[in-house]
This record gives sequence, C-alpha cells and structure tokens, in this order.
Amino acid sequence: MDVALVEGSVCLQDKCSVDEIKQTRENAAIVVAMGGCACYGNITRFARGGQQNQPQMESYVPIGDLIKVDVFIPACAPTPEQIRNVCVMAYLLLKGTKEQKDLATAYLKPLMDLAARGNESCGCDLITDVINQGLCMGCGSCAASCTVRAITMEYGKPNVERDLCIKCGACYAQCPRSFFNTDVISQYEAINEAIMAALQ
Ligand code: SF4
Ligand code: SF4
Repeated sequence: MDVALVEGSVCLQDKCSVDEIKQTRENAAIVVAMGGCACYGNITRFARGGQQNQPQMESYVPIGDLIKVDVFIPACAPTPEQIRNVCVMAYLLLKGTKEQKDLATAYLKPLMDLAARGNESCGCDLITDVINQGLCMGCGSCAASCTVRAITMEYGKPNVERDLCIKCGACYAQCPRSFFNTDVISQYEAINEAIMAALQ
C-alpha cells in the first residue's frame, strides 16, 4: 500500500485487530490515523468492558500506542474533503513531481506534526495550543464533545475544569483549530489545483 487510512482505536483483547494494525504498518509507506479515536482514543478511552456482545473487550488504545503513525486527521468525524485531500497529498508526497511534493509537504506538515506530537491529549492541551494562541473561535465543539462535562462555555470561550478531565482527547480531536493549517493559507489555490489535477 502507498497510503493506509485507519479509522477507530484498537482493542487490545482482539488479537486479530492488533495483528492487522501491525501488518498495516509493515505494508504501507504512509499510515494515516483518521478521526479522533484512531488519533487519541476519544470516547473509547471510556470503555471498561462488560459490553453485552463482547464482554471480554475492555481496553482500547489509539493506533499510535501500537505502531508509528505518520499523519493525523483528528476531527470527529473528518469531512469527506479532508479525507480526500489527505489521501491525494500523501500519494503526491510519495509519487509526485518535485512541485507536487513541495505542495504536499506544505499541506501535510501540520498533520504530520500532530502525529509526531503524540497520541495523548487533554483539556490543558486545548488551553495551551488553541485558546492561549488566540485561535479559539468560540464554536463550543469542545464543550459539546466532553462526556464528563469538564468544559463549559463562559463568555463565549471554553473553561476547562482540569480536575474532571480524564484525558480522552475528544475535545482536542473535535476542535477545528487544533489542526488549523496556517502554513497553507497563501498556497491554497495551488494546493487545490494540484488535488483536482491529480484526481483527473
Ligand atoms: S476536557 Fe473532556 S473531552 Fe477534553 S480530554 Fe478532558 S475529558 Fe476529554
Ligand atoms: S472547539 Fe476549539 S475553537 Fe471551538 S470553542 Fe473549543 S477551543 Fe474554541
């Protein structure tokens, strides 16, 4: 495979899934973690076993706990355009001309940086990486995604109750500004043209 997209976290009690993710790493040039669960565990961090159909399954981890991941698409859920663009750009990074590789590098760098940053994330990261950087636009997605209600919106900005946070990463995965791609704003047209040309 040139580019492998992996969705969802991995259940450690499911040997088949554990083997599959390792084989994916061995056989793919670029591995993309697609969505909050693959990147950070997200809601599956809450799993404690006892589900009726598969009670033996009780531990889920993001794929980065088991293999090296090259690119994150952290949203929950990513848009079809995001998924398409990452696939095309990852392919051009491997097989494109020099100009295409340069554009692909610019496009993918923030998502590769996220993957290199690690697969743990908490409400404090949202404060450090988004709110304190002046990137928060007050959309409220983080508060809506937090299952333990550790985030409330106050005066249009999220307030994180750190003692309640269980570090599931859902808010970080859901925040559209945690992977805001400032590097490519000036190259947007060229990137869009490269993607459309590659698709034809
Ligand atoms: S603030 Fe909530 S959503 Fe964010 S990491 Fe903590 S528990 Fe998860
Ligand atoms: S999801 Fe991100 S941009 Fe939206 S309110 Fe939360 S921190 Fe701000």
